[in-house]
Parts: sequence; structure tokens; C-alpha cells
Amino acid sequence: MQNKFFSTDKLSDRVTRIHGMGGELCYLIEGDERALLIDGLTGVGSLKAFVRELTELPVVMAATHGHMDHVGAAWEIGEVFIHPDDIALMYTPTHSAPEGRLGFASAPSPMGGEKRTKPVLSDVPAPHPVKTYPIYEGDIFDLGGVEIEVVSVPGHTQGTVVFLDRAARVVYSGDACNANTLVYMPCSTTIEEYKESLLHFKSYQKDFDVMYGGHGAVAIPNTIIDDAIAMCERILAGTDEAVETPAIGGGTALLGSARGENYLPACGGFANIMYRKEMLHKRPHPVIKDEPNLHR
Ligand SMILES: [Zn+2]
Repeated sequence: MQNKFFSTDKLSDRVTRIHGMGGELCYLIEGDERALLIDGLTGVGSLKAFVRELTELPVVMAATHGHMDHVGAAWEIGEVFIHPDDIALMYTPTHSAPEGRLGFASAPSPMGGEKRTKPVLSDVPAPHPVKTYPIYEGDIFDLGGVEIEVVSVPGHTQGTVVFLDRAARVVYSGDACNANTLVYMPCSTTIEEYKESLLHFKSYQKDFDVMYGGHGAVAIPNTIIDDAIAMCERILAGTDEAVETPAIGGGTALLGSARGENYLPACGGFANIMYRKEMLHKRPHPVIKDEPNLHR
């Protein structure tokens, strides 16, 4: 199905992938009783109305993280499940302002994104306070016959989560781990913390085969976790390729490997990481020199 803003393809009987104009992706999972919309594109065009055409089930939206190309429909739906660490992020002007979201949908994307219309500001629902329901590691969305589990993978943002369907052996991963994982933004963790996240994520590796992400319509094998852990180790050891690459918002960041064919890392595997030298290590807690002794 498609309209001028969105198009779909089916991943299975129960799963519809929805493509936005900027190449961003979201997923509608239908259970027997309820449906879960994982991510909400940029909020250019009415995704709410489009989803209503796809299913008659009650739909709730959950976001992998608070970036503009994932929470857009929240401004229209009015409520979203999201990790608390990303709630402030989604309200920042960068990620909520209609002009920026329109720019994202209008810009050419290296990951595709078909332009069947030239959107205008009136196609972009304005941000406003929405109801945010917090989600944490281990939470389960019971859709009736389908269960979707929350796994916390901070790195790209502090509050990034991915969604695991154990029965289907699939993870919906947003921007958590891919061939261009951005871990250099103010909302990102350090590389040291991202590596810890990936080690935690690896404890679920046996429970799924492939991941579907927020950009790039390919099924990513679960071995990407190993590739990403190895790259974090090379970055921390200073033995990665450290290719200077233009960063979003200006300046440059470093890329763990040069890009090869199909946007994949030239070093092999599926994971590539953009980072900054000053965001490698966890910041030490401040040393408190004169703490009053409360027991005296
Ligand atoms: Zn993102």
C-alpha cells in the first residue's frame, strides 16, 4: 500500500514495514488483539491515518529512541512509549521542530526514500506535550499471540532500546547498531559505555537471527553485535581506521572503518561506528574530598 508520503512492504503476515520519504523505516506488528507501531518516522504526512488503513486493531506507538526520524508520529498520536532517558531529547528543537522534520523528509537520503510529493509545512503536525509512558529493559508488549520485549541498548542515544520478538526470532533495532552507528552526538554515550551495552545485547544474540533497523531495508544478521564489539575495542585501543567524516550539524567525527560497497564497512562485517576522540571513556565521578561524617 502507498500514498504520497508512505509506502509499505510485508515482512510477514503480522509485520508491515512502513517507509518514510527520508528513507526512515518503522514497523507495525499486529497481534490478535492489539498492534504495536515501533517508531513513527519524521511526522511528515499523517502516519496515524495511514496506519488506520493498515489495521483495525487498537494501536500503540513505542519509540526505539527520541530522534526526529523515529518519534514524528507521536506529535500526532499524542502518546508514546519511550525510555525516560530520551524524553527530553524528543522535545529538543532539533528533534521536534516542524522545519527540521520537513528538511529531513525532503533531503536526498543515501539509504533511499522515494519522493512522490514535495511536502510543505502544513503536512507536518506541530510538536506539543504528549503523554509519555516509560519503558525499561524487560518490559513486554502483549499484543495477543505476539509478545514484544524491550531490551536496553544505550549508545546512539542514552535511552535507546530495541524490541525483541522471541517467537519470530527478530529484533527491531532502530539506530542501535548498523553500518553507520552514530555514537558521537551530545545525546550519545561514550564508546566504553556503548561496548558495555553491546555485551549486554549479546546475551540476547541466541534469541534472534536478524535485526530490522530504522534505515536500510535489509535484514541484518545477529553477528553484527560481534562486529560492533570488536570495532569498539579497536576504537578504544586506537587501532581502528579513524577516517575523518563530516558530522551531522557541522564539523567532523571519526569513522571506525572506511566505507566499502553498499555503505558497508570496508574492513568487513556489518558494523561501523562514528565517534569522537573526546567521547571514548566514561567520565570519572568527581572526588569528594571533604565529606561530612554523618555518624559522629
Ligand atoms: Zn537516531
